[in-house]
Amino acid sequence: MAKIKQLSLYEVQKIAAGQVVERPANVAKELLENAIDAKATHISISIEDGGKQLIRVVDNGSGMDREDAQLCFEKHATSKISTVDELPSLTTFGFRGEALASIAAVSKVSLLTKEQSATEGLHVTAQEGTIQIEPAGCPSGTDVTIRDLFYNMPARAKFLKKRETETRHIIHTVQAMVFAYPHLHMQLFVDGKQLINCPPQDTMLQRCVQLWDATTAKHMLAIEATRSDKGISLCGAISNHQWFRYDRSGIFFLVNNRWVTNIQLGRSLLKGYNNVIPHGRYPMAAISIMINPALIDVNTHPRKEEISFAHPRTMEQLIQETIRKALEQHLSKQIKKEVSLYQPTPNTRSSSPSVSFTPASFASVEKDIALFKATLPTTATPAKTYASFNGAPQSTPTTSQEKETKTIPIIDTTQEAHTVIGQFAKTYIIIEQEDGLFLIDQHAAHERILYEQFSQQFHNMPTINLMFPQMISCSPEDLALLESHFGLFKEHGITIEPFSKDQLIIQSTPVHLKNAPLQEIVHQVIGWLKELNNVDKEQLHKTIHDKLRAQMACKAAVKAGDILTQTQMQELIKDLHVTPNRFSCPHGRPTGWMLPLYDIEKKFRRKT
Ligand code: ADP
Ligand code: MG
Repeated sequence: MAKIKQLSLYEVQKIAAGQVVERPANVAKELLENAIDAKATHISISIEDGGKQLIRVVDNGSGMDREDAQLCFEKHATSKISTVDELPSLTTFGFRGEALASIAAVSKVSLLTKEQSATEGLHVTAQEGTIQIEPAGCPSGTDVTIRDLFYNMPARAKFLKKRETETRHIIHTVQAMVFAYPHLHMQLFVDGKQLINCPPQDTMLQRCVQLWDATTAKHMLAIEATRSDKGISLCGAISNHQWFRYDRSGIFFLVNNRWVTNIQLGRSLLKGYNNVIPHGRYPMAAISIMINPALIDVNTHPRKEEISFAHPRTMEQLIQETIRKALEQHLSKQIKKEVSLYQPTPNTRSSSPSVSFTPASFASVEKDIALFKATLPTTATPAKTYASFNGAPQSTPTTSQEKETKTIPIIDTTQEAHTVIGQFAKTYIIIEQEDGLFLIDQHAAHERILYEQFSQQFHNMPTINLMFPQMISCSPEDLALLESHFGLFKEHGITIEPFSKDQLIIQSTPVHLKNAPLQEIVHQVIGWLKELNNVDKEQLHKTIHDKLRAQMACKAAVKAGDILTQTQMQELIKDLHVTPNRFSCPHGRPTGWMLPLYDIEKKFRRKT
């Protein structure tokens, strides 16, 4: 019997569709592009369950007549070109005429559409290769609803990620469109909640204000540059040297209004920030590049996301230089501002006495701290300036003798001969022992102590309710991502809740974190969640759990530069003494170091 069978058109279409549509965000992008091609000025997109259940895009564009509405689901049906010769002068996103056909092959599509001049609209349904069309009352424009993506390709559906991940990809796509088209009104609803609402604006900087939280927007700088000899101009907004993320999700490049993911563009951006922001951190940037279309190739990727340039070096240099210049300008402006705050000129001294940096403002900070301290419940472990190690379950010593039996001391604190000489460079505790000097790095040591403490008792860590709950701003996108991980914070004694669409509120924290920069910890976790996207849930949980503990220990530990009293130093040494893994901090740096007496004597030539 013959083994070769001709596949039905429907099956062929399904297979082909998989190449165009990989995930819900691709569908969203295609539908948004169609709305833009149809000259819409207002586009609203709604998704449910990460777009797996529903993606709906409503636009007020041209709409379609009966013939077009019928044809638009056919493969290679496009209104945008008739021959390939028209490609170079193309001004629309689409031209292949395969998006709707592909989407209809792998989902259940329903479409309402009406031309401005028509008195009546149309309702079209496309499912399993059959198209039905009937008259319907509806507003001018097009309203496309995609349901049950990959319902007929279970193998494919299995590869879709969980709701949060797919949602995040869609949000990212919508944000890119918001940046690419400042003059459009765009809205995004996620599971019934409005996450993005961006009425028309003029600039990318204004788009940043709309899309991102207020704090981020404050840190954005406008950029602009032209290389007319090479037919390139660029404009946009970038974050200053004081603002960065732990992942790349705040970076957008648009080339001739098309959102592209070009590795080289990203690299040029980071080069511009070289030595300005810490390693492993990423700026936020929305950069729109306009270039002579003859100097780019956009067809290198089937979804048109990749792009190659005829003069990649020029592009790289232009981006890098523009970023450098903007950062330098910003920095010199800031320095000037600070100089004028410290050295008021004679005339400003009398006329404007209220500069923000006054002793009075310090006094109010002191007052805040005092008030904050008053919120500590008396039953909780009193938080020492250097927090102590109170009872790890593994060793809950009552006497120093008991400690001795359970751990091998790096320094024998029970030994008579040990004396804390003092603190060196406000960082190292120097201990005199019979056989030499022992130096402890106060931060590394305390970090390890807290890390182990958090590991062993994170389920019943003493926490305090903040009298002044901390507000943390973050993008709606990050908030959505974080929401399903609030339990993780709770496990670590941090009660975190959404406050508004771009603000979180922290109600309580572990005692040790009371002075820690929670904003940074929260943003760090968001970054990890994004970077660790592809690991399985259990692994993700474990990794975040470890990282969170290390981060908490790092933030809560005494810092290099903190002056410690004799008692605090003694306490720290005592705690370190009973801490497991005490030879290194959670990042692997040593906590202590011995300078043997023998070596000292050799230096002084008392010994040979
Ligand atoms: P392409 O965009 O490459 O032409 P699509 O499959 O995305 O292919 O769309 C097919 C055709 O359907 C378009 O050329 C356009 O004429 C019509 N169309 C699709 N979406 C819309 C819309 N939102 N408004 C008006 N016409 C649309
Ligand atoms: Mg299209």
